[in-house]
Amino acid sequence: EIRVRYAPSPTGHLHIGNARTALFNYLFARHNKGKFIIRIEDTDTKRNMVGGEQSQLENLKWLGMDWDEGPDIGGDYGPYRQSERMSIYQPLIQQLVDRGLAYESYKTEDELEAEREEQRANSEMPHYVYEYAGLSEDEKQAKIAAAKAKGLEPVIRFHVPENRTYKFKDLVKGDISFDSEAVGGDFVIQKRDGMPTYNFAVVVDDHMMKITHVLRGDDHIANTPKQLMIYEAFGWNPPVFGHMTLIINAATGKKLSKRDESVLQFIEQYKELGYLPDAMFNFIALLGWSPVGTNEVFNRKELIKEFDEKRLSKSPAAFDAKKLEWVNNQYVKKADSEVITDLSLHALIKAGRVNNDPQPMEIEWARQLISLYKDQMSYTAQITELSDVFFEEPQELDEAAMKELADDDALPVLEAFKAGIDNIDHFTSVQIMKVVKQVQKDTGVRGRKLYMPIRIATTRSMHGPQLGESLELLGREKTAKHIVETLK
Ligand code: GLU
Repeated sequence: EIRVRYAPSPTGHLHIGNARTALFNYLFARHNKGKFIIRIEDTDTKRNMVGGEQSQLENLKWLGMDWDEGPDIGGDYGPYRQSERMSIYQPLIQQLVDRGLAYESYKTEDELEAEREEQRANSEMPHYVYEYAGLSEDEKQAKIAAAKAKGLEPVIRFHVPENRTYKFKDLVKGDISFDSEAVGGDFVIQKRDGMPTYNFAVVVDDHMMKITHVLRGDDHIANTPKQLMIYEAFGWNPPVFGHMTLIINAATGKKLSKRDESVLQFIEQYKELGYLPDAMFNFIALLGWSPVGTNEVFNRKELIKEFDEKRLSKSPAAFDAKKLEWVNNQYVKKADSEVITDLSLHALIKAGRVNNDPQPMEIEWARQLISLYKDQMSYTAQITELSDVFFEEPQELDEAAMKELADDDALPVLEAFKAGIDNIDHFTSVQIMKVVKQVQKDTGVRGRKLYMPIRIATTRSMHGPQLGESLELLGREKTAKHIVETLK
């Protein structure tokens, strides 16, 4: 049975990159009728964020993922939080120490830094130098006793085997090998605070939880030889590894980093803007993976059916926020009106354009406004900017719009239209469009030259939804006022 896991460190909200890791593991599990497991890697206590775990889980659920085992639901291989698994790690670390495969290390941070400094000065790759080199067992024990007497706290380091090559067949990248020298010397498996390090705990947990495949970001590829050494030390079979390519920001061509403020990167932020979870799921699934064919719009079921790990891309995935807008718009157009109305109304309220506690009349008005703009919205929070004209004083016109109004036919059209709407009984889209027809008859102007001046003068924009419906919603007073202002 295929068993995969998503193993977040609860250091913050769910990032696009992490969401992608979770999603590919999820799709791989569901496609193969295997198990998808969540494990919280919270041993780096300084970096844990209060509420980080809960926020991550909520965002995964919002995206539409569910899991078979995890910290919130338990399972046969728990606990699913590393901080609760100390009694599992401790004896295993002791075992390695007893077998001479790991040892207490007392070099202080300052000593280590000085060591690295010197190595850099000699153009060497910084690495840890064995602190008991050339000592007999007795001398080593004496050195340890002296450090203990000074009150120093040790870390435990794993003894890296010399002159070995560690090979694995990566699901995404193919054959990979590392020389044991490449890992930078004996590495820490237990920190001074007694917590195991990531590289140790991940191996123990993946083994104990019977994980068959590890799909993760390729920022972890250099950790893999360290992990293989630990598997070897315990005589355990490693899982299959697959390292997914990094994500680059399509706008800058640079690696997507959390510090890059030019693009939103947290699921929470998209949720707040009213992006739809199905659209996000669809979009993220295409970050470094592609189905057969050219279609790009897939629902969850289809993605589960189509998912094939052999189609994970070897080249970087471009995160294109514009494409995400496009994908989301596809889903907004298809979505249930109620859903879009609720989300957009939330945005209008948040922007202070609709009362916190709207009256039925206001809701009805907002509903019409929203349905008018539904097909145009990339995401529902956009309703505020799209519908500016309904709320703000008329804005400056851009050059193209000014040019349209400068046409000889524009003035007579606007005058006739203004006179026409002053005279209708009911300011409804049907009546408004009748006026437009009448203006056409009276002035002889038709097509674009007829519609454009009216649209620009009234809505202050060259584009927008249905003219009649827009003006009905705008109301007679504002419509007339905008025209008068334009004619000035
Ligand atoms: N906790 C690690 C991370 O968030 C998991 C890496 C792994 O999947 O092995 O990057």
